[in-house]
Amino acid sequence: MNRCRGSPVSNPNRPIELDIAIIGGGSAGMTLARKISTLKTAVFEPRLASERDCSWALWAQPQQLEELSPAIKGSWNKWRFIDQSGEVIHQSHQYRYASLSSSQYLQHCEANLSDSVHLVRQPIDGVESDCRGGGQLKANGQTYCAKTIYDSRPPEMPDNCLRQHFFGWEISTKEPISEADIATLMDFRVDQSRGLHFIYVLPFSDSHLLVESTMISTQLEDKDWYRNAISQWLDDQNIQVQSKLREEYGVIPMTAVPSQQDGVARIGAASGAVRLSSGYAFSSIQAQMAILSKSIAAGDRQVPRPFSRSLIFMDKVFNRVLKTQPRCGVGLFMAMGATLKADAFVRFMLGHAGCIDWIQVIMAMPKWPFIKAAFAEVCSHD
Ligand SMILES: Cc1cc2nc3c(=O)[nH]c(=O)nc-3n(C[C@H](O)[C@H](O)[C@H](O)COP(=O)(O)OP(=O)(O)OC[C@H]3O[C@@H](n4cnc5c(N)ncnc54)[C@H](O)[C@@H]3O)c2cc1C
Repeated sequence: MNRCRGSPVSNPNRPIELDIAIIGGGSAGMTLARKISTLKTAVFEPRLASERDCSWALWAQPQQLEELSPAIKGSWNKWRFIDQSGEVIHQSHQYRYASLSSSQYLQHCEANLSDSVHLVRQPIDGVESDCRGGGQLKANGQTYCAKTIYDSRPPEMPDNCLRQHFFGWEISTKEPISEADIATLMDFRVDQSRGLHFIYVLPFSDSHLLVESTMISTQLEDKDWYRNAISQWLDDQNIQVQSKLREEYGVIPMTAVPSQQDGVARIGAASGAVRLSSGYAFSSIQAQMAILSKSIAAGDRQVPRPFSRSLIFMDKVFNRVLKTQPRCGVGLFMAMGATLKADAFVRFMLGHAGCIDWIQVIMAMPKWPFIKAAFAEVCSHD
């Protein structure tokens, strides 16, 4: 066992007793670990934060922005959607769209763990549940006995499910770009022949950008396909690259996680905290971990559901339309951007939309594809 920051003394012949074991020190695991103050806890995470660096974006209000400030790389109160016929720009007075460095966020959590929480840099290679939420874990030959286990390891997902997959370059540009105060969430003026495709651009300054080619489809593409799409888009915008600073690749399943019957509680993406219709998860994981940590302090260790059943149903219907009629996708997202004002759009993305927001969205959507998809969803029993 690697000796990490204050880790318990290991002895393969004697199990180490824990109140809480957290498997996986990613977004959910480290956020929870940081909020635990007195219970004897171990987080098992084999990889360094720097090995997992990517951009995590969210909409946040000033207080949350302040809390996340050690990891924030940029934030914008304006964002836009573009297609061949024009653009929709949102300007918010309540929220900013912020991008974090995941490695800085995780390192910040690690640096602020309480003395009772230990980070073990080993993978878990076996879990035996006691069916009361706890059980035994094995890491590098050492056994741990935990009263409660929270597992955040990514679940296995079916290959043919709808996925958001993306490849991005962080670049510096030769010339300053215009409108560097606006984040481009979706620019659909790109090849749509392989599925719903858009370019996502975060201008950290007028000469430092993250540019991603993002697809929503069931089929992953070769990495050169995304690279070519980014190069083409940069040419179209007359943006010349000074240097490529970093690459980023990700695949986010947009389908419900299979339910697990092994008696171990899941947290984060493994518990269904990825919003099915958007792939965003950071905010819902933050909210889930805030509630869970308060419950733990109050003696209740049950994991809260990240989203309501009705929201999950609506997202499944939306995804069914995207999966069966991908050519509708550009129109759906553009209509949603056009119909909702900035703050209502954010409420919608955060899963906090009110009745009026929902009515506006439903009115802006084509009715027949959604009625058919809703009916198919009800009949599918997924
Ligand atoms: C590249 C990328 C970009 C994303 N961007 C955004 C974004 O901009 N906004 C947003 O809201 N969401 C985004 N997401 C989605 C979501 O926020 C992330 O998937 C988030 O990391 C999920 O957190 P998690 O803790 O559930 O899982 P993870 O962060 O994946 O953590 C799981 C951890 O388990 C560890 N692990 C695996 N096996 C073992 C084992 N045997 N033992 C111990 N540990 C193990 C892994 O190393 C990993 O660190 C992005 C996802 C990706 C992949």
